[in-house]
Amino acid sequence: MRLSRAFLPTLKETPAEATIASHRLMLRAGLVRQTSAGIYAWLPLGWRVLQKIEQIVREEQDRAGAQEILMPTIQSADLWRQSGRYDAYGPEMLRLRDRHDRECLYGPTNEEMVTDIFRGYAKSYRDLPRNLYHIQWKFRDEVRPRFGVMRGREFLMKDAYSFDVTKEGAQHSYRQMFLAYLRTFARMGLKAVPMRADTGPIGGNLSHEFIVLAETGESQVFVSQDLLDMDALASAPDYGADLAPAVDAWTSHYAATEEMHDPAAWEQVPEGKRVSARGIEVGHIFYFGTKYSASMGLSVQGPDGKTVVPEMGSYGIGVSRLVGATIEANHDEQGIKWPDAVAPFKAVVINLKQGDAACDALSERMYAAIPDSLYDDRSERAGPKFADADLMGHPWQVVVGPRGAAAGVVELKRRATGEKQEVSPEDALAKILG
Ligand code: ATP
Ligand code: MG
Repeated sequence: MRLSRAFLPTLKETPAEATIASHRLMLRAGLVRQTSAGIYAWLPLGWRVLQKIEQIVREEQDRAGAQEILMPTIQSADLWRQSGRYDAYGPEMLRLRDRHDRECLYGPTNEEMVTDIFRGYAKSYRDLPRNLYHIQWKFRDEVRPRFGVMRGREFLMKDAYSFDVTKEGAQHSYRQMFLAYLRTFARMGLKAVPMRADTGPIGGNLSHEFIVLAETGESQVFVSQDLLDMDALASAPDYGADLAPAVDAWTSHYAATEEMHDPAAWEQVPEGKRVSARGIEVGHIFYFGTKYSASMGLSVQGPDGKTVVPEMGSYGIGVSRLVGATIEANHDEQGIKWPDAVAPFKAVVINLKQGDAACDALSERMYAAIPDSLYDDRSERAGPKFADADLMGHPWQVVVGPRGAAAGVVELKRRATGEKQEVSPEDALAKILG
């Protein structure tokens, strides 16, 4: 994309309403625009990041055996009456009436709807296990929307729902998602730590939150340094295997949110390894047994001919929140430092002298050779070009100036480290594409 023609608006001033770095930078770098409280339009730069995050989530859900569907945003109140949650869910639920005066709602989550869909087809134990997920906008009328997309009212979530015949099967499904989450966040360049969590209004008895440590996080967490040192990608066995050892390797270390914190157990963690910090919840998984299947009449015929009520779990990832969380974990005073896997552009080619034949030719050549690159071809001074590149946070900057263009070299800057080097165009390409 050529910056001279792109819709990539950046702001010089810091917007007054933004109190944390990610919110500030998302507005300044032109990722999103607030349209009303807690509701955002995604501009090209933000939309590209959101789609990259979404795609990693999708690939890892698919790899773990979940199947993608798409459920609507508008749901019928009747469904929620069946589970008893229509009245239990508070003012966070956006309730609507259609022209026939039928009660509807904008979905804050989908346990009821997916149970209804599944009960329409599942007849026998052979139809299980299944795990269905979708990536869809949710609405929760949060009392205090804040921190930009981190706590919005409309937000994008991946939610998966598992159906199993037995408790053991449900536990296996839970572990599949547990490990899929570790892989998902690691691929995004994020360290998200699984912690014992309260099951809250979804109910049930087993739950973990995946938390990115950040000073601006809303949750207080307690975690052993040993867990922070673990490598998520190294620990994913084949999903068909016995997953208990891989999961236990993580859950055997102390990690808990404030609600689940156990001071006595905390004392057992060696003093030098006790990390008490703030964190951002980017994912949450639950095993809740037959809460929805029983209340909504989902049952199948078991192997012995008797009726079985399936065991269920649900598994959420805050896809839009992840954009903010990634920035919280990767930024400096100048701007964003995107991890490669989710960067909106792989590199920016900065032409320092637009109109100079040698600069133009070398810049065009670099731009054409790097897929997913941005070309700063504006007739701007060098200062603002560098400032925008740092603000938008592209992992690589390829700087083409008149002296270098004449000598056949470019300056290559790695945004994450600030490291700069003069290299031949070929070496620059090898590094970027390597
Ligand atoms: P929180 O405790 O942050 O309010 P929650 O426990 O209500 O979240 P879940 O129902 O577990 O959220 O939803 C799954 C995921 O969706 C969360 O882990 C979080 O990443 C994301 N999420 C929840 N609420 C919001 C929101 N208001 N804005 C953006 N993302 C959200
Ligand atoms: Mg949660």
